[in-house]
Amino acid sequence: MNIECNVLDRQFKMYQQEYEEAALRALRSGWYVLGKEVESFEKSFAEFTGSKYCVGLNSGLDALILAVRALGIGKGDEVIVPANTYIASVMGITENGATPIFVEPDEYYNIDVWKIEAAITKKTKAILPVHLYGQSCDMRAIQKLAEKYHLYIIEDCAQSHGACFDGQMTGTFGDIGCFSFYPTKNLGAFGDGGAIITNNAELADKIMTLRNYGSRVKYHNEVEGVNSRLDEIQAALLSVKLRHLDELTDERQWIAACYLREIANPKIVLPKTLAGSDHVYHQFVVRCSEREAFTQYLLEKGIKTMIHYPIPPHLAESYARLGYAKGDFPITEGYADEILSLPMYNGMTEEEIEYVIEIINSYP
Ligand SMILES: *Cc1c(COP(=O)(O)O)cnc(C)c1O
Repeated sequence: MNIECNVLDRQFKMYQQEYEEAALRALRSGWYVLGKEVESFEKSFAEFTGSKYCVGLNSGLDALILAVRALGIGKGDEVIVPANTYIASVMGITENGATPIFVEPDEYYNIDVWKIEAAITKKTKAILPVHLYGQSCDMRAIQKLAEKYHLYIIEDCAQSHGACFDGQMTGTFGDIGCFSFYPTKNLGAFGDGGAIITNNAELADKIMTLRNYGSRVKYHNEVEGVNSRLDEIQAALLSVKLRHLDELTDERQWIAACYLREIANPKIVLPKTLAGSDHVYHQFVVRCSEREAFTQYLLEKGIKTMIHYPIPPHLAESYARLGYAKGDFPITEGYADEILSLPMYNGMTEEEIEYVIEIINSYP
């Protein structure tokens, strides 16, 4: 049996007719960027997350960049970010000229809240937690630190659509929550897309102005902005998927439950969930100390896996100027050497799940 790590047309086919109707509606409307579909999606997504405002953007990276900018964070400021994350979380900081301060992860792969305090300095302006792989960070602990040191919280929710901590939706614990709708994400569009959510009217207004050349009134540019607009077709398609997000999440959690219940191989370390945290399984990440041999074995049996992510941001070529070297964040680097993501996608069949489990359990 051949099993891809992700198969995007399965989730399309689940609601194909609704997607096609929505796309046609947007096409026939004669209005293609920042219109009724975007407004309607923003309203639904704000409601879904339980926040007051949502601003649709062009990508998750833009959401992070504009969130940091709207909070007035820039040159000379420091932002605390997990060392174990996708590079976009860090780019949101560095694109504004601010300095990322990395903190090692805990056993759940998220930022270790016990190590944050030691990283706070006079220059620290914000904590930027990332709900990696779909599991919420310990947001109460992060809120306490932010209050104590008067820091902003910017949540990177690019992998955690619908995940809660203590029953509260990720993205609503701090000042701004940043989302990506890249096609592979849990709430993925059919192209690029992103959004911020916030309860702060002033921040929402700032980001709404920034996304459209810094203008509220056409050709009247108040601030130096960017072009980061969400288009009508993506918004229409996202509205369809948002209606089904709960069932899509249930399906991911069901696949994860099968894996957790049935994978039993002493060489494979399964993911754990922190008490109070939801896990929406954007990725199902396991560890194996002999990863190369293990992935090769799976590949020979037709099972494809991926690594999220092989090179931690502090070791990325693009960040050589930050001056980090191998060994600076040993826990992060250790994870990067051992992690792999198992096939996990909406529309995965029971046969496929059982086959993955059977092959993993047969790995000698
Ligand atoms: C995908 C992702 C982003 C960036 O989103 P894009 O829409 O691809 O720009 C940011 N942070 C994390 C953790 C992500 O997984």
